[in-house]
Amino acid sequence: MNDTATQRSRARNFGLIPWNKGKTLSSRHRLNISLGLTGKHRGPPSEETKNKIAAAKLGVKRGPMSAEQKEKIKLALTGRPSPLKGRQLSEERREAMRGRPGTWTGKHHSKESLKKMSDSHKGSKNPRWNGGDGEYPPTFTKALRKAIKERDCYTCKICGKHGKNVCLHVHHIDEDKSNSTVENLVTLCVPCHTKITKNAKKRTA
Ligand SMILES: [Zn+2]
Repeated sequence: MNDTATQRSRARNFGLIPWNKGKTLSSRHRLNISLGLTGKHRGPPSEETKNKIAAAKLGVKRGPMSAEQKEKIKLALTGRPSPLKGRQLSEERREAMRGRPGTWTGKHHSKESLKKMSDSHKGSKNPRWNGGDGEYPPTFTKALRKAIKERDCYTCKICGKHGKNVCLHVHHIDEDKSNSTVENLVTLCVPCHTKITKNAKKRTA
């Protein structure tokens, strides 16, 4: 700062209380500053540093980083959270990413592969396998379920929901899955079926 700038600054700040007046740094803060400066060169920059600064100001590009330098940076950054952590992508950025092909875009599993995946999760291999109890007997066929749904006009007998988007189940009224007589079967939508079977489990528990 030259003299006139200093004078202007003084005039501007005359009578104002300095922001740090009467404030002291906590011992923790002082320790942090001290730690931050540990091992750092203090005092006027060396000739080498001066040259580097001058070159940087002139826009002189340095050559590629040495492997050693890269290693240093790597070590210094290791364990630090990513600068992107917690940042939200802008709407534009998200828009740009939308619809970009992913790893599986346009690809399909082969029939063989699908079969393998299916087989490896069937029955007792399935994590939701409940031990085999409650499995439906062979008399409770797909054709029978279809017949019941047709009889009930593809409509839930509890809430009356029907239509293409309603997934329907055929429910055993007496909860006895081996009793697959037409009188014991009723068409229900999935939410109603879940509710009714949950209640039944509570009753028996
Ligand atoms: Zn329903």
